[in-house]
Amino acid sequence: MTSKEWILDEESELRLEIDFDTKVKLRLVTGTAEIFGTELGQNIDYEFSGRKIAVFTWHGCKLQIQGTCSVEYIANETPMISYLNTHLALEQRRVMTSQNNGQGPRVLIVGPNDVGKTSLSKLLLSYALKQSRQPIYVDLDCSEGSITMPGCLTATPLTEMIDVEEGFGSSATSAPTAGSAVMPLAYYYGFPSPKDNLKLYNLLVSRLAQTVDRRLEEDEAARKSGIIIDTNGLIDATGYQVIAHCIKAFSVDVIVALGHERLYSDMVRLHQKSGIAVVKLAKSGGVVERDSAFRRQTQNQKIREYFYGTPKSELAPYSTMINYHDVDILRVGEGSLAPSSALPIGEDRKVSETHVVKVEPGEHLLHSVLAVSNADKMAEPEILETNLAGFIYVSEVHEVRKKMTVLSPCPGRIPKKFWWQGSLKWAED
Ligand code: ADP
Repeated sequence: MTSKEWILDEESELRLEIDFDTKVKLRLVTGTAEIFGTELGQNIDYEFSGRKIAVFTWHGCKLQIQGTCSVEYIANETPMISYLNTHLALEQRRVMTSQNNGQGPRVLIVGPNDVGKTSLSKLLLSYALKQSRQPIYVDLDCSEGSITMPGCLTATPLTEMIDVEEGFGSSATSAPTAGSAVMPLAYYYGFPSPKDNLKLYNLLVSRLAQTVDRRLEEDEAARKSGIIIDTNGLIDATGYQVIAHCIKAFSVDVIVALGHERLYSDMVRLHQKSGIAVVKLAKSGGVVERDSAFRRQTQNQKIREYFYGTPKSELAPYSTMINYHDVDILRVGEGSLAPSSALPIGEDRKVSETHVVKVEPGEHLLHSVLAVSNADKMAEPEILETNLAGFIYVSEVHEVRKKMTVLSPCPGRIPKKFWWQGSLKWAED
């Protein structure tokens, strides 16, 4: 394996792109360094595959890289000072919470795709964690799923530092189990863009916000620490509606507009008058545009990790045979795909957008990733607003015997009956 050393001056970063089919080991030899806000330990090997990262140093460091990166270079110009200042301003608000009903900042990060919204969220969360805060990370980017699977809207109370190698951590990608340090609360939306079913998206955002509020009422440390909300990159007229809805639902008091001048000035014009602070931050030159092939591979990696874990914490999924009639496979908003003329008389499109329909099990489910609802009965609209127990993967369909084999991260029968079908498919390799 090739080995290379890099010397970084203060306030510079080493930008790395690592392909999915290679593994690269990174070691901090001397000095201090961090990846999206999480500090590296000295002389520890961190392993990466299929990632684009920046190793930043405030005071200078020596790094060792083993393996071959597809891109590697040092950048001396970064927007890190302005990101740190934003953190300090948020921290100031946390200190002053007594003047704001004990409520820490509720920050919404907006911007187009690929400007570093998720990376900035991680950084602000990590810096808050470093100061012993316990912020909540809300991920409204349904296309990506930093926390669980794509298609979900999640809220995760954070109490431990974000893992360097695994981003939001292996516990976040596994089933949301009670008692784990990171316990994401997930609702299933099932589409890649809020545009695909705006009514459902807004409904779930409101539901998630209510649940977060309830949690904050009980949890003083989290309430003081506040929330960081990561959004998807929609910034057209629909995007503005979505942003306005999020602001209202989560009582946002700080908007960070990242990497987009016009979005910033529109946010000032539309929201500053209601007392919301609007901050403009520049995109880092290191943020990499991800093409659809890379996104797809990231998605596959995420699904794989959900069932099989990561090299650091491997999981062995359980295989279970299920009778078709033991479960109800559900889809939402089927009506929105039909022309209005095809809808039943009296049922308008808005209603059909959140209408739940049962899907006949069959061959078409092969390789699907389905979201297991915590709901015990099929009642509309409550079932839409019920959170998730986890995910299963359909590995085999036995059409003649009316059975299917599914993988799940937990042993035994899957106790829940209602499974959501979205657009996620995965071919196990
Ligand atoms: P967004 O959330 O706006 O879509 P991300 O934060 O996900 O953007 O960033 C896009 C990609 O660029 C990610 O793979 C991320 O790891 C990478 N990235 C972000 N900042 C840097 C940087 N300074 N150097 C190298 N890669 C970066």
